[in-house]
Amino acid sequence: MEDLQPIVFEGIDPQKPIIIAGPCSAETRQQVLDTARQLAETGIRIFRAGIWKPRTKPGGFEGVGAEGLEWLKEVRDTTGMYIATEVANKTHVEEALAAGVDIIWIGARTSANPFAMQEIADTINASGSSDLTVLVKNPVNPDLELWIGALQRIYNAGVRRLGAIHRGFSTYGKHLYRNMPQWHIPIELRLRYPSLPILCDPSHIGGKRELIAPLAQQSMDMGFNGLIVESHCDPDCAWSDAAQQVTPEILNFILNTLVVRDSKQTTESLTLLRQQIDRIDNDLLEILSRRMAVSRDIGRYKKEHRMSVVQAGRYNDIIRSRVQLGEEMGMSPEFMKTVLLAIHDESVRQQIEIINDRAQ
Ligand code: PEP
Ligand code: MN
Repeated sequence: MEDLQPIVFEGIDPQKPIIIAGPCSAETRQQVLDTARQLAETGIRIFRAGIWKPRTKPGGFEGVGAEGLEWLKEVRDTTGMYIATEVANKTHVEEALAAGVDIIWIGARTSANPFAMQEIADTINASGSSDLTVLVKNPVNPDLELWIGALQRIYNAGVRRLGAIHRGFSTYGKHLYRNMPQWHIPIELRLRYPSLPILCDPSHIGGKRELIAPLAQQSMDMGFNGLIVESHCDPDCAWSDAAQQVTPEILNFILNTLVVRDSKQTTESLTLLRQQIDRIDNDLLEILSRRMAVSRDIGRYKKEHRMSVVQAGRYNDIIRSRVQLGEEMGMSPEFMKTVLLAIHDESVRQQIEIINDRAQ
């Protein structure tokens, strides 16, 4: 993917982040036109709305279908905004292209499916619309190669105005985020394909409107090229993703408080390095807690066998061998002793806790 073209639109400042905003779903003609007008008044130039909605379970609102394309055309004609929608199969692509949609994006459930991606790519190829802008969301699962594969299929269809959207990754259970950001994955994509624009979708990562601003800021700090944000004229009454949508007015407030740094290169490299530190610290904590869990198991064993917690011989052996290993890895003996002692103290404390706990 060497000869990508920048995603620029006439009348939109190419130096600024690309901002795409609009409701999760097109619901009614009135809702689409009201939201678009309000967004246009705040200076938003690219309007999004889902017409075909991939829902987790049947029975929910699955989008208004092709009828919504007529509303999008009206948005373009009345506000002058560029229009964007999601496609998931051949018919969607054909209908979106016939409506003159400026940007199509591929959703996270679709980009995880190579058959669907190939069908979309073949349809774009057959249509000959190589100046179309196509954005590919990350697949729902944290698989960078699958994401790259989806992008490559679109690239091979002749699309050069190609971009990626980071919308977070599914996970089991309840978490702060609806979809885990796992920032290192889009960062790795950036390192592999430096000319590929990457937008952030803070709405689907956060799943809650309060998280849009911090996530959007974080993505700007990491040098993302733009945002796609869900905005609805009456968010609480939205037919899909109500909790994560904001009014055009609130969106305008959020965008005005965003700090977009110009010295991208330096900030970006520093951010990448800090990201690595964050990841390594997380790994360290994880490993330490695994070590403590083993210590507690040892505590249970010692309790059962009436052994003393601290066994001097074993302790001295540990210190000696680890200090030497640490030195070979470039760390001073003083530092190694301090760290090992602190870890040992905490292990002992946890074992004593087990021994004194009558329930164990
Ligand atoms: C959407 O953008 O409304 C959408 C369905 O998103 P995702 O594919 O990221 O779940
Ligand atoms: Mn949505």
